[in-house]
Amino acid sequence: MKEIILAKYGEMALKGLNKNGFEDILLKNIRRRLKPLGSFTYAKAQSTIYITPAEEDVLEDAMERLGKVFGIAALCRALVCEKRFDSVAERAPEYLEEVLSGARTFKVEAKRSDKAFPMKSPEICRELGGILLDKFPHLTVDVNHPEVIVTVEIRDTNAYVHADRRPGAGGLPVGSSGRALLLLSGGIDSPVAGYMMAKRGICVSAIHFISPPYTSERALLKVETLAEKIVPYCGSMAFFCVPFTKIQETIKDQCPEELFTVIMRRLMMEVAQQIADREGCLALITGESVGQVASQTMQALCATDAVCRMPVFRPLIGMDKTEIIAISRKIDTYDTSIEPYEDCCTVFTPRHPKVRPRLEDVERAQGAFDFTELVTEAVTNTTMKIIRTDF
Ligand code: ATP
Ligand code: MG
Repeated sequence: MKEIILAKYGEMALKGLNKNGFEDILLKNIRRRLKPLGSFTYAKAQSTIYITPAEEDVLEDAMERLGKVFGIAALCRALVCEKRFDSVAERAPEYLEEVLSGARTFKVEAKRSDKAFPMKSPEICRELGGILLDKFPHLTVDVNHPEVIVTVEIRDTNAYVHADRRPGAGGLPVGSSGRALLLLSGGIDSPVAGYMMAKRGICVSAIHFISPPYTSERALLKVETLAEKIVPYCGSMAFFCVPFTKIQETIKDQCPEELFTVIMRRLMMEVAQQIADREGCLALITGESVGQVASQTMQALCATDAVCRMPVFRPLIGMDKTEIIAISRKIDTYDTSIEPYEDCCTVFTPRHPKVRPRLEDVERAQGAFDFTELVTEAVTNTTMKIIRTDF
């Protein structure tokens, strides 16, 4: 039996004149994600991409990969029939046998995008429902809360039958909204922030600050693991690693202890912006959330933003930790994030950080030393590797 995958767009279907551009990017992303599974043919029509594998045994793996591709609102494994009711009637019972044998209630829904089809939707539902009841007499129809919904779609060239509709990752295809640079730490929040902005179509690169010997090789590997966990959603990612030790030691020596963290965050932003400029990133992304820690009070965020020339996207800004954790579990970063390794943010942390730093105090304190050269040196010594999707 010929089975294919229907990948249906969500929000993208509304894009009017731009729709073609979005479709092309989505198709490119889908091809890239499925390539390791073998060869597929692709067609697009009616806000759906039709994906036909050369070998059907890869369908389930393909569904799993596609479930992480942004821009797809829903995914169905579907039986391909000729566009005649007798073809549907003949083949649907066998195709649905496994799922219907294990169910007690069902209903049939019909979607007739080809209005020239001789039967109307209620008729298709009634007829196919009757046939399925004959073949599977243990079933009853429940139109309100059926265990299985059998859908018949009458489309351009064929009819499709499915009982396996799964939600897609939603959002917009990665690459449709430009590029931004994610400040990625080993914590819970920043991987979630990267995932959320990729969902809006942004192509994400990552930057991570290390302070050897205060931070270990193992801590860096943990962050690389987090990047690997989000690339199935974000796509292959440039990962920049910044040696930050000298800057941190200098802040410690030259600036008041209580302002250490906010000054460090401003210098992180300075370095990140230079890398962002060089790499064509139009914005920064962080995992900050108002009030979560001393460096994330409104005043501290204002003092950090004062050095930012480009927008800083903070998708978690209004979220509770429990909401953030729920997403990190969903995208499978949580268990890695809670591994106990030091971060450069946790070395030299002041005993009593200033919770509501005033911008002029921060500027004066930071002005005691000219960090320009150290920032340039950190940028120059930044290394890059690509974290790939093909695991
Ligand atoms: P997270 O859970 O993401 O580590 P956090 O609650 O621990 O966040 P902070 O340590 O104050 O908060 O960091 C705030 C944000 O700064 C992080 O979400 C991340 O975007 C960025 N950040 C922190 N440390 C680093 C680092 N070593 N390299 C790159 N970015 C960092
Ligand atoms: Mg952190």
